[in-house]
Amino acid sequence: MTSFSIGIDTPEVIRQKVETAAHYPVLKLKLGSPKDKENLAALRDVAPKKPVRVDANEAWRTKEEALKKLQWLAKDGHIQFVEQPMPADADPKAMVWLKERSPLPLFGDESYHHADAAPRCADCFHGVNIKLVKSGGISGAYEALQAARRLGLKTMIGCMIESSVLISAAAHLAELADYLDLDGNLLITNDPYSGVTTSMGTLSFRIAEEPGGLRVTKRAEG
Ligand SMILES: [Mg+2]
Repeated sequence: MTSFSIGIDTPEVIRQKVETAAHYPVLKLKLGSPKDKENLAALRDVAPKKPVRVDANEAWRTKEEALKKLQWLAKDGHIQFVEQPMPADADPKAMVWLKERSPLPLFGDESYHHADAAPRCADCFHGVNIKLVKSGGISGAYEALQAARRLGLKTMIGCMIESSVLISAAAHLAELADYLDLDGNLLITNDPYSGVTTSMGTLSFRIAEEPGGLRVTKRAEG
């Protein structure tokens, strides 16, 4: 089951996007704009209790600011976790401080590219977001997932804006992840490939034409 991403926008557009995403059971909301409160309120107008993952994308500059935001988000009652509250180059001691006090689980994204960063991330976060683009492909992502799991970190497989080639490749690793955020191919209209499909947020290879390998097929030109 993948989350569906709602990018930073005006509250009115957020409202429309959340309405359009009604058939996705889990949303991911990007924060880090001056309108964070209005944007979450707009989402909640449309989807009052839907599980939401928040991605702060390194937005909060100090540990105190980040903690204040996390305490505000925890009051919502339906936020699953918060991704990358502080910049990846922030003082690791500040991130450890934040992890000790955070009322919500924290996930590293920009802080976690390769398996060798797993020990540092285990000090600073409760989980990590692994993307094939960051980790160098399937084998790098596999190593990054295994290294994180060995240290007790929760794992999410995420993506950039991608075609169905990389989304399908990532989907083959799904069993190593606690959470999926594989919606990059749903956010584009010019995907040259088809592979894994998404229905009501659930990924499946059931109707993939290609029976082997990545299970990806080039779409007919049209
Ligand atoms: Mg992220």
